[in-house]
Amino acid sequence: MDPVGRCSHRHHTEMQRSFEQPQAAYAHVPFCSHRCGYCNFTVVSDRDDLVEDYLRAIEIELSWLRVPQPVHTLYVGGGTPTYLPPEPLARFLQLLQKWFPVCENHEFSVEANPIDITPDKVSVLRAAKVNRVSLGAQSFHPGKLMALEREHTPDDIVRAVECLRPAIPNLSLDLIFAAPHETLADWERDLDTALTLNVQHLSTYGLTFERGTTFWGRLLRRQLLPVAEEEQRLMYVETMNRLRANDWDHYEVSNFARHGFRCRHNEVYWTGQSYHAVGPGAARFVHGQRQVNHRSTTTYLHRVLAGLSPVAESEELAPADLAREQLVFGMRRLQGVDIQAFAQVSGFTVESLAGPAVRKFVDLGLLEFHEGHLRLTTEGLLVSDAIWPEFLHV
Ligand code: SF4
Repeated sequence: MDPVGRCSHRHHTEMQRSFEQPQAAYAHVPFCSHRCGYCNFTVVSDRDDLVEDYLRAIEIELSWLRVPQPVHTLYVGGGTPTYLPPEPLARFLQLLQKWFPVCENHEFSVEANPIDITPDKVSVLRAAKVNRVSLGAQSFHPGKLMALEREHTPDDIVRAVECLRPAIPNLSLDLIFAAPHETLADWERDLDTALTLNVQHLSTYGLTFERGTTFWGRLLRRQLLPVAEEEQRLMYVETMNRLRANDWDHYEVSNFARHGFRCRHNEVYWTGQSYHAVGPGAARFVHGQRQVNHRSTTTYLHRVLAGLSPVAESEELAPADLAREQLVFGMRRLQGVDIQAFAQVSGFTVESLAGPAVRKFVDLGLLEFHEGHLRLTTEGLLVSDAIWPEFLHV
């Protein structure tokens, strides 16, 4: 160990792997039929005229990889990938398959809007080797869906699940809690309904008000009131209790899986491994470098179609900063961080990176040491977002 706590010997472990060829890839599809009031993702609505340019740009950006990059996990997010009509969707997925061929035991996930799921599109997804679909369900209450400005109904979700399941049995639902006026009893009903659908994975997020969204403006004008913090806390506690009692694997702050159905692609992010990415706003981590493409879809298209790089930000993190980031990502997982393995992998001890912060949060009962791991306590899970800044900015 040197004076700053670096281990003198490195092993062939995850840290080194992260600088090898990525085994994962992400593609961003920016199209949506409209923009939901809470959404601050990279999205264009009412711009079907851009679909052909988008496909050309993706083809060009992919060709800059020079040779196909085989991957274990491929994730298509948005936006709404399934907003693309069947024929462009098929061409898009073929392009991805050409440049990111998936290995035999792969996970290929596509995000979908329940309203878009038709037998035609399910056939397209299946033909492209998609084997996991993440549905933006959000709720089973008509009033809550309207409040969130979603276009689908509860019946659309059930119909989409039934349409997908025979062809693509690995399904995930996104659910939002703490929507305006939502009560704990409302949320419990949403959870119970989700459980009746027999899906393999659930992601649950508390509604946040993000700058630049219409919800943000309405919040400032007091037209929308956030659900009280204590009520939000109870909703999250109830989520954990209910799903754990039903034998779900709570494996990350917001994510729950049936045993054996964790999202392998997201685990790539959380364990600090590298990944390719294409499309507007897409972020990649390749050979120790983080890059983010232009968030504006039109800027992305103009640049790529003119043969210019779409990268808006690029940074090579110092080894200690990278290790700190990996520590935080690791602690978002319920199993926490294996202290010894972390030191071997990152070259830094947890103590040298964040000793005072660890002691502070252990004393507060928000973190704990358990069987050689540093992990969040149940209390810590409830406030985890408030913990991380002290680990990242020392
Ligand atoms: S469907 Fe999803 S990505 Fe599209 S606007 Fe709504 S929240 Fe955003």
